[in-house]
Amino acid sequence: MFKRNYPSTFISPLHPDSVRVNLIAAQLLPAVQRGLDIKKRHAIESKKQGSKSCGSQPQIAHLDGLDWEVFVMKNDGHAGAVSWSNGKILVFTGLLNRLETDAEIAAVLAHEIAHLVARHWSELIIYKKWCPYPLKVYFVRRLEIEADRMGMLIMAAAGFDPRIAPVAAEKLVGNDIYHPSGKKRARLLSRAKVMDEALELYREVMSAKAPETHSATGA
Ligand SMILES: [Zn+2]
Repeated sequence: MFKRNYPSTFISPLHPDSVRVNLIAAQLLPAVQRGLDIKKRHAIESKKQGSKSCGSQPQIAHLDGLDWEVFVMKNDGHAGAVSWSNGKILVFTGLLNRLETDAEIAAVLAHEIAHLVARHWSELIIYKKWCPYPLKVYFVRRLEIEADRMGMLIMAAAGFDPRIAPVAAEKLVGNDIYHPSGKKRARLLSRAKVMDEALELYREVMSAKAPETHSATGA
């Protein structure tokens, strides 16, 4: 419906920007399960050590059959992205103008994918409809922070350096009242425990990807 109502502002799927964001998303999507597995592993380890696991593990069966697609919409004044529960993600040109590298764009797309993995839309409906104002903002911001953390694991599992996630977050200053400030998001993502988990995954993925080296003697 959104696409039908604003057809002239959508960038062609063949435009280099559309191709670029879809290629990045195609790298992120197969990595979702691997990104969640490390959370499971850490939960099992902390259980073994006697500490209580925090939060339930998201299941991804609901993602089966989703028709993932990333659209780009012409709006240079909006440096953001939105997603729908059917797997459609919309990126505004303002975001692509502000971010430089594929890893920065991956951080934003991974955040949107994380919203879908964690089924945040169902909670959002409840919070926005039923919660009084200050409480509503508090709960929605918690979802944003959760999507940031989960997104950072997804990008790491896809082979994007997670240290770029706080850099990208800081560039997305002041989206709206429901998003914590870019500075706060960057600070939360840079916390040692959160970043170490993502870096561990990233290093595992990169070492598995690294080509074997052969030392040729006498050649
Ligand atoms: Zn979000």
